[in-house]
Amino acid sequence: MSLNLDSLTAAQIASGVASGDFSAVEVARAALDAIESRDAQVQAFLQVTPELALAAAAKLDARRAAGEEMPSLSGVPLAVKDNMNLMGTRTTCASRMLETNESPYTASCVRRMLDAGCVPVGKVNMDEFAFGSSTESSAFHRTNNPWDLERVPGGSSGGSAAAVAAGMATLSLGSDTGGSIRQPAALCGVVGMKPTYGTVSRYGVVAFGSSLDQVGPFARTTADVALSLDALVSGGRDVLDGTSRDVEASFAAHLEDGVEGRRVGIVPAFMEAEGLAPEVKRAVERAARSLADQGAELVEIDLPHLDAAIAAYYVIGPAEAFSNLARFDGVRYGYQEPGCANLAERSAKSRAHGFGTEAKRRQLLGAYLLSSGVYDKYYFAAQKARTLITADYTRAFERVDAILMPASPTAAFKFGELSDPTQMYLSDLFTISINIAGNGGVTVPMGLGEDSGMPVAAQLVGRPFDDARLLSFARAVERAVTEAGTASVLPVAPAFAEKGGELA
Ligand code: GLN
Repeated sequence: MSLNLDSLTAAQIASGVASGDFSAVEVARAALDAIESRDAQVQAFLQVTPELALAAAAKLDARRAAGEEMPSLSGVPLAVKDNMNLMGTRTTCASRMLETNESPYTASCVRRMLDAGCVPVGKVNMDEFAFGSSTESSAFHRTNNPWDLERVPGGSSGGSAAAVAAGMATLSLGSDTGGSIRQPAALCGVVGMKPTYGTVSRYGVVAFGSSLDQVGPFARTTADVALSLDALVSGGRDVLDGTSRDVEASFAAHLEDGVEGRRVGIVPAFMEAEGLAPEVKRAVERAARSLADQGAELVEIDLPHLDAAIAAYYVIGPAEAFSNLARFDGVRYGYQEPGCANLAERSAKSRAHGFGTEAKRRQLLGAYLLSSGVYDKYYFAAQKARTLITADYTRAFERVDAILMPASPTAAFKFGELSDPTQMYLSDLFTISINIAGNGGVTVPMGLGEDSGMPVAAQLVGRPFDDARLLSFARAVERAVTEAGTASVLPVAPAFAEKGGELA
């Protein structure tokens, strides 16, 4: 009988490994067993890495045997989004273009999680190059929502969210350019946080929109997110990423600070937004009440330029993606079309056959938007909108300490339900403006929706580089909605949990 990880948080696994209650190898075997028995249905993983996991675990056990001090996340099973390099794995971005691409080094974010003692159990599925909100644009296979296999897990970090929701990894890393951590976390019923742009190094993460991309963790509890963020920022700014900053590793230390006397903004226009499902609206209202009950003051705020956020994002994002993806030219990286007469033909055919539909759509859009004559009209306008949106948030944060809003307008939708790309783009309504402004955002599960029976969530947004406090607001909501005797709002999805799978 292997260890039942469904009932353990990352903090509990690390302390069990450090005290010798169980070994890191036992934990790794239990996670690999869970993947073996559950992933045939969920399909979150693109690669499972038993050799890497068992070698890392054995090293930790040897350190303990030698009497060394054990790091904060000792033995905790970690799944890594497949746009992050990890030596000994391929980094495919769920694209044919990079199907055989071996990671030449390990991304700084992954390195820091491994240095904190995490054990890498595999690389997980995503929308191709992180373009999407459902993981349906993966070139390899779909990933199913562990709460209902006929529904999407969200995206683009759908594999990262599903792996944690099904109990196949205790922690995972995702990246968020317009909502790709917060939206799948909402749809799968786990906690997901995008800290302020610059908090986590982007070195070794395949770029989508360089001014928008930010890495962050998924976990079942805010406490585990705090431990992960402390690991991700420890060691200070990463000299390998010019946009990374020094951030204090104080997430766990501030987690229980409480919200007494703090001000929380509510955006009435968001709560009345067209397309916001009543069950999600009610979940956000419950979150608001829980904060008020704990002594926070609710303040109505206005973010007048947020109507422009989706339009601005779908100019800036594709423009940056077009520039970033130009490197996949059939010569230097990735897929090379065989039998071409010259380099130009090889480049054209490799790109034509290596990229999927959405990746092509974004690059064509980006190429057009940056072309002469068009550039002034759209790109320049989008940058102006970006300034106005950022100013809206700056002004709002003069009055409040955090803003509460939905994360996704609906619970998880069925496969194929949003087949029109524009409709899919609109599902990012509540997440995108935060990438444009750069602030941190975190999704808190709010239980199951009364109408869909699927996880619903609330999102909290904070001041730039005030992410430890932001997470303490999420903790306050979590504390209020978590049943006594359990650590997380929702357990591992019941179809997958072992008996007694609720966190004690
Ligand atoms: N869904 C958004 C998009 O398709 C955001 C994706 C992301 O954050 N990577 O671009």
